[in-house]
Amino acid sequence: MCEGQKKCGLLSVVIPAYNEQEMIEKAAEAVSGVLQEAGIDHELIFVDDGSKDLTWSEICRTAERFRGKRPSAVLRGIRFSRNFGKESAIFAGLEEARGDCCAVMDCDLQHPPETLSQMYQLWQQGYQVIEGVKKSRGKESWFHGACARLFYRLMGQATKMDMSRASDFKLLDRKAVDALLCLKEKNAFFRALSSWIGFQTAQVEFEVGERQGGVSKWSFRGLVSYAFTNLTSFSAAPMQLVTVLGVIVLICSILLGGQSLYKKFTGQALEGFTTVIIILLIIGSILMICLGIIGYYIAQIYEEIKGRPRYIVADRCEEETQKK
Ligand code: UDP
Ligand code: MG
Repeated sequence: MCEGQKKCGLLSVVIPAYNEQEMIEKAAEAVSGVLQEAGIDHELIFVDDGSKDLTWSEICRTAERFRGKRPSAVLRGIRFSRNFGKESAIFAGLEEARGDCCAVMDCDLQHPPETLSQMYQLWQQGYQVIEGVKKSRGKESWFHGACARLFYRLMGQATKMDMSRASDFKLLDRKAVDALLCLKEKNAFFRALSSWIGFQTAQVEFEVGERQGGVSKWSFRGLVSYAFTNLTSFSAAPMQLVTVLGVIVLICSILLGGQSLYKKFTGQALEGFTTVIIILLIIGSILMICLGIIGYYIAQIYEEIKGRPRYIVADRCEEETQKK
């Protein structure tokens, strides 16, 4: 792959893993196999995101096995002190990567390793951000799909980018990786930030595969919180909603106020308390929602201002035999 005038360099593949004991070896073999066949120099970086199963020992064991079996490939592992989330794991992997370009992919092989060599070729042609876009969203429930569409539509409006088919499956040039690592925000949403940084971008379509083992790590609650956090970290639109709601309530108040005054002066008294109670309840709820939204942003500011690290590394397994 590196013959002639073509640019070539080390590809680091970052693979976040949370409770993926069944998948470590399979993923390492599949990815390394494909890259070796394509003649791409590579290193694999597994980031154990505080797994509770045997993921870490699997990573170390596979690294050990690779040393004997695949001397041309390097496998390294980082272990977090607890679960910090996929985004933190991705950033830790990128920080650790030494490659001239870095790819990020899931551990469950839902991102086909074969696509990596296609992405690498685009990188060789000079593209600096190569995004994997989903041909379809794979198997998911109707409800899950509808929620995802809503989230991506809102996210698309917030970021001014089409996120509907975006994924975390990307290959970034060293310059793009360094630009990402310069961003200091703790609440970093990799999928959107890697587009936000700009650079020469290309897209590669891929078919989302079936999970090859284990189970998905997302609960519905987790997804809702993930969606809300990422949305608010990218956009102040929900805050503007507070103003919009305020204006709507004001218009209603003027109309209702006018009607009440008219009735008072024409001698028609208002009937009962029902209207008053309903209006009070509606305004009360709107106020609560607005306070909630503002509170959420304050919480985010509080989180960021504390300046805690994105993750804490508890352990590493290195293979320092070759390259750089
Ligand atoms: N993951 C992680 N930390 C988490 C949750 C997930 O590192 O807290 C990893 C997981 O091991 C996998 C990838 O993120 O490699 C995608 O997770 P999953 O397959 O569960 O998500 P889905 O494909 O269902 O969206
Ligand atoms: Mg998956």
